[in-house]
Amino acid sequence: MTPNRPTHLQLICTDFDGTIHSDLDSPTIAHEFQELIADLQRQGMKWVVNTGREMGDLLREMKRSQMRVAPDYLVVVEREIHVRRSDTFESHAPWNDRCTTTHAQLFEKMRADVTEWSEWVAKHYIADVYEDAWSPFCLVASNPSDASAIVRQLEEWCRPWPELVVVSNHIYARLSHVDFHKGSALREVASLCGASPETTFIAGDHLNDLPMLKRECAHWLVAPENAVPEVKNAVQSAGGWVMEGRASRAVVAGLRRCLKD
Ligand SMILES: [Mg+2]
Repeated sequence: MTPNRPTHLQLICTDFDGTIHSDLDSPTIAHEFQELIADLQRQGMKWVVNTGREMGDLLREMKRSQMRVAPDYLVVVEREIHVRRSDTFESHAPWNDRCTTTHAQLFEKMRADVTEWSEWVAKHYIADVYEDAWSPFCLVASNPSDASAIVRQLEEWCRPWPELVVVSNHIYARLSHVDFHKGSALREVASLCGASPETTFIAGDHLNDLPMLKRECAHWLVAPENAVPEVKNAVQSAGGWVMEGRASRAVVAGLRRCLKD
């Protein structure tokens, strides 16, 4: 993968759904993955879960999955950073406040357009479109094919707004500022714990992971076999590995391969 093998990893970054968690498996998060993460944390490595889920939703699913290991950092809604202090997660306020203000300013400027977009989607597709605290336009499509078609149209409409991007994942999509995504949030987390790309490992499976599956974020990139083709291509193009197996089973194999090299 790279001639510069890490003497040690400092930061492990994993997406949640489809990367370490799979409803198709029992347990949904492999015990082997949890044990390896716990062992690496004891050695001083930090673990960040970098997800599109909201905080409460993520914590509930982690509990339901009987996760016995706690991430050191969470990135939620693909942009907000939280740091673990004992049993709770605290907002990384300097980043999150700037993120909130930047989005509020952007969405204020283009809010009028969103009404038209929502009406167009309602006319042409069976889909849920709504506003939440993070985006004036959120989409839950009926299927991935509809989601792709709607996202393509949204991207056309976003062209006049260079700061605006559509973040999509499976049947979901939301709007975001171009400066805030899983990749930029990961780089901020890396700066908090002093990790460089050479000592950072990242695993992801879907389109919203693409901004972090880059060598400027990590030299150790892994996608599970169940990743979408765009992610597999991006990981392999950047010198990373597509590992056999689904979700956490594949990420364990990727971590072991990285640590062995
Ligand atoms: Mg995922």
